[in-house]
Amino acid sequence: MKESPQDRKLEGLLRSSRLAAGGFMGHDTRCIREVIDADAGELSRLGLTKEQVAERMREITEVAISGLGSWVQIGDDLAGKVDEAKGWLICPWPHKGKLAKRITTVKVIETGESIRWSDLNIHLIGEHGFFEGKGSGFRIEPRELTRIIF
Ligand SMILES: [Zn+2]
Repeated sequence: MKESPQDRKLEGLLRSSRLAAGGFMGHDTRCIREVIDADAGELSRLGLTKEQVAERMREITEVAISGLGSWVQIGDDLAGKVDEAKGWLICPWPHKGKLAKRITTVKVIETGESIRWSDLNIHLIGEHGFFEGKGSGFRIEPRELTRIIF
């Protein structure tokens, strides 16, 4: 597929460190559209939509916030913890508004398996279907994420 000038601009921004240390694409050589399409395919095989995934992530973050940095039990199987940092994250697409620099860590109590996300991850997944490129610090694997949170 031919990339528009707008796509190219976005692509450059996502690969730069201007908005996030190391950028959003990691060592992924695919274009953004390919990354998004591959993860959309994975999600549909899992029988989920990006909105459902983002909604569940948001729900977990909201419960975990009440722990003020300590672990909070979520449902029967999960524990969550939120760490707040100073500053804001903004969407590279771009979108108006700023997102709190907040990291949610969720672990499966029985196995200790864990996954983490920022508020920006929730936005990028819910609005753009973007789980970030392979090798990015905040890349989220849809299969791993959904196995833990659903
Ligand atoms: Zn956005």
